Amino acid sequence: MTPADAAELLAHCAAFDRRTIGEADARAWARALHDVPLDDDLLDAVAEHYAHTDKWITVAQVRDMRARIRVGRIDAAHPVYDGNPDESGEQFVARRQAQITAAAEGKLPARTITQAIGAGPSPKLLALTATVVHPVDETDEPAPYVDEATRAEIRATLPGNRAALVELDVDCPNTRCRAARRHLCKSSRGKELRGTVHGQRRDAYATRHAQCPDCGAPPRHPCTTPEPHPARVRAAVADRPVPNRHHLDRLMRTPPAPRESRARHTSGGQHR
Ligand SMILES: [Zn+2]
Ligand SMILES: [Zn+2]
Repeated sequence: MTPADAAELLAHCAAFDRRTIGEADARAWARALHDVPLDDDLLDAVAEHYAHTDKWITVAQVRDMRARIRVGRIDAAHPVYDGNPDESGEQFVARRQAQITAAAEGKLPARTITQAIGAGPSPKLLALTATVVHPVDETDEPAPYVDEATRAEIRATLPGNRAALVELDVDCPNTRCRAARRHLCKSSRGKELRGTVHGQRRDAYATRHAQCPDCGAPPRHPCTTPEPHPARVRAAVADRPVPNRHHLDRLMRTPPAPRESRARHTSGGQHR
C-alpha cells in the first residue's frame, strides 16, 4: 500500500473514530502495511472492528482482522489441489498458492470438506460393502452413472490395453499435453503416461459422460462449480474393476505376505 492508500484507509477509520490524519500518519501506516493492498477486505476489517468496539483501531488489528476474514473464506472453501502427474515441484507450489489466494478472495465457492477431498465412501468401498452385506445379485448393484452400454461402446473404440483408460475418449485439455482422443497423455518431457491421464482430462471425461450426483448436472453440462464435483469424477470411472466378493474372501483368508527384509532388521536390532 502506498501513503495515498494509507491516507484513504485512515480516512475510512476517521469516519468511525473521528481521528485527525496527518501526512506522517499516512506514511507510517503505509510502511507498516507495505505488503497489504488497500482492498475491500481491509475496509471490511476496519468496519468489523468498529462494529464491536469504540477503541481506535491499530495497524496490527487491521492486519489481523483482514487475515481473519480471508482465512475464514479459505476454511469455507477447503481448497484441495490434486496436482498434475507431470508438474514440477515449483509448479505445484505456485498452483497450490494460486488456489489458496483464489479461495481467500472468495473466488472459490464454500464446500464441505467431504466434497473437497472427495472423501465420501468410494465406489469401490460401496461396491465392496454391497457384496458383503447382500448376496451377490446383479439387480442389487447401484446403477453406474455412465450406463454400461455407453461405456462398452467407448471402450470398443479405444485400442487394445488402452481400453482401461476410458478418459482417452476425450481430448486432453491440459495445455502442455493436448493429447488427441485415443492417444495417451504425455509428460512435459514428452513421455507417454501409462495408466493415468491429466486431471483436466479426467474432469473433461466426467463432464462429457457422467451425470453429477452432487449438483445433478446431466452429461455434457458443466457442474455448478468451476470444476466438476469430485463425486462426478469418481462416478465417471466407477466401473474400474472392483474386487468382487470372491476376491474379498480370498483377501481376508490370505495372511499378509511376510516382509522379510524388514523383519530381519527389526529382530537384528532387538536381539543383540
Ligand atoms: Zn494430457
Ligand atoms: Zn456437479
